Amino acid sequence: MPSPVRSLPPPPAASGARPALGGAPLDGLALLRHALTVAFPGRIAVVSSFGAESAVLLALVAEIDPATPVLFLETGQHFPETLAYRRQLAAHLGLSDVRDITPDPATLARDDPAGQLWHFDPDACCARRKVAPLAAALAPFDAWVNGRKRFQASTRASLPLIEVASGKVKLNPLAEWDAARIAVEFTARALPPHPLAVRDYRSIGCAPCTRATAPGEDARAGRWSGQIKTECGIHVPEYISPAGHRGRQ
Ligand code: SF4
Repeated sequence: MPSPVRSLPPPPAASGARPALGGAPLDGLALLRHALTVAFPGRIAVVSSFGAESAVLLALVAEIDPATPVLFLETGQHFPETLAYRRQLAAHLGLSDVRDITPDPATLARDDPAGQLWHFDPDACCARRKVAPLAAALAPFDAWVNGRKRFQASTRASLPLIEVASGKVKLNPLAEWDAARIAVEFTARALPPHPLAVRDYRSIGCAPCTRATAPGEDARAGRWSGQIKTECGIHVPEYISPAGHRGRQ
């Protein structure tokens, strides 16, 4: 099998630059279409939180191939509104392969029997409820797509369109989009909003670790508010040591 990394143009050296295919730079939408239909058909999944902005990426994916596998990390700690929205949006867009990815029951019974690990050790909680289940769910795939954008937080300001993580190609086709473009797309496509988005939840994760945001705050300021934690662990950047070993920053 060819290396999955060779199936797409290589990530550009300059952060923020667009990858090129056949001499022409690809924007995020062209990259998404190329990945789903040419580079990785049958070997690519979308990972979605069914959060405040997720409908846009999912609509674009559904337009290209509604049978694309969509992985939803069902941590057991979501708002009921998110679970209802996951069902509503999948039906609305005609997505036919949305998969609920759940934590290992034995692991939770051993390490988080009361469902309170998020309070004492959120990194350990995310590791058990998100990171490990996603790694297992992605095993059959060579590439995956997610909806992160540069404007969402200062920590994402230099997000590239293409990354390589744990030997898989990771695509961020909406990296260049801003809030205004997301809003325009919502309206143009008459996409249903997440029920909490209209109550100032601009980034929505698990219920214990999410609050609404105030005007002027980063969209992700309501995630793990008051803690130094900013990511759940599935998007921790990798580094390659001088000896060629991969590790996590
Ligand atoms: S976001 Fe919070 S509740 Fe959800 S897995 Fe992470 S620490 Fe646990």
